[in-house]
Amino acid sequence: MAAVGKRYLFTPGPTPVPPEVLAALAEPVVHHRSPDFRPIYDRCLSRLREVCRTESDVLLFTASGTGAFESAVVNLVSPGDPHLVVSAGSFGERWAAMTSRYGADVDHLRYAWGETPDAEDVRARLAAREAKAVWVVQSETSTGVVADVQAIAAAAKEAGALVVVDAVSSLGAVPCETDAWGLDVVVSGSQKALMTPPGLGLAAVSDAAFARRGSLPRFYFDWERTRDAQRSLDAPFTPAVSLIAGLDVALGLLLDEGLEAAFERHVRLGRAARAGVKAMGLELFSPDDDRSAVVTAVRAPDGIEAGDIVSAVRNRFGMTLAGGQGELKGRIFRIGHIGWFDVFDITTALAAIELVAADLGADIERGVAVTAALEAYEHTPVA
Ligand code: PLP
Repeated sequence: MAAVGKRYLFTPGPTPVPPEVLAALAEPVVHHRSPDFRPIYDRCLSRLREVCRTESDVLLFTASGTGAFESAVVNLVSPGDPHLVVSAGSFGERWAAMTSRYGADVDHLRYAWGETPDAEDVRARLAAREAKAVWVVQSETSTGVVADVQAIAAAAKEAGALVVVDAVSSLGAVPCETDAWGLDVVVSGSQKALMTPPGLGLAAVSDAAFARRGSLPRFYFDWERTRDAQRSLDAPFTPAVSLIAGLDVALGLLLDEGLEAAFERHVRLGRAARAGVKAMGLELFSPDDDRSAVVTAVRAPDGIEAGDIVSAVRNRFGMTLAGGQGELKGRIFRIGHIGWFDVFDITTALAAIELVAADLGADIERGVAVTAALEAYEHTPVA
């Protein structure tokens, strides 16, 4: 049994929040149009540009990642416009549904859940039918697959299409070179690798995307309104000032570590998780690949419901893992490893999974997962 009140959050969002960020969240509330807030806002927006690796505006919304994504839809789509949406899991399918709901004429390049989108398929679809924008998920959190958005963006650019990237679970964990890769819109949220509670969504918007805004009506999520206000360190509506103060501190921590160092840490965490899972005899669902640095998805052993492992780990040890979503419900469970994570979070999760899965009757080799994870973390240099 876990010590009273002790909780471990091993999900791919929300993620654990560092104490420095929690302390910033607990500061007295300041007024958003006052000199108490403006320096925080300014620094946070500039740190966001650094983390997104862009010179463009990063628009900040008081909304979850889905809200920031909806801002891209309502600002870019005109009813009847052709768009290409790439999906290989729950979030890609959400964007196909959302763009369709707003009247886009959607060509849906739909992969089975767990497959990895291929830039050549995008190229072929765009050759067959033009699209104003290609919508793609970088890290499909429901499956653990991280797509090669650089290659997909190159295919889109060749065809003259804008590129909109869902980087909700990947920004800050794996490279996302907004300007260098020509990504027109990059959407993310505060509660994943950015180590802040849920409640802030962001969209980095290129000049090209801004210039090609569509005709849908919009108000709260109007990019122009937010961009103009942010440029004078004003906000069009009352922002979540405390969350912005927390995000500012979190981004400072991430930039102090260094983005490259953070990306390498995430590669190693992914390796550690996969090595531990395989060593105990379980089967991976997510690819056994360094790209898969955000979340490790594991197939439930034969005859065991994934949800039973998730519930037992939670009830016995106070640890929250993620179950499968949609069609993967019951079949997989997921260990998130983004944000404020180190290898001992991975070994803790593995040790608990091992105990619980063995008790549920799985054929588990006991006592090897932690060692395998530590070795994979320590002894495999990142290229
Ligand atoms: N896209 C991806 C890849 C995600 O992982 C999530 C969150 O789980 C979302 C979109 C949706 O973000 P939110 O739940 O913040 O609206």
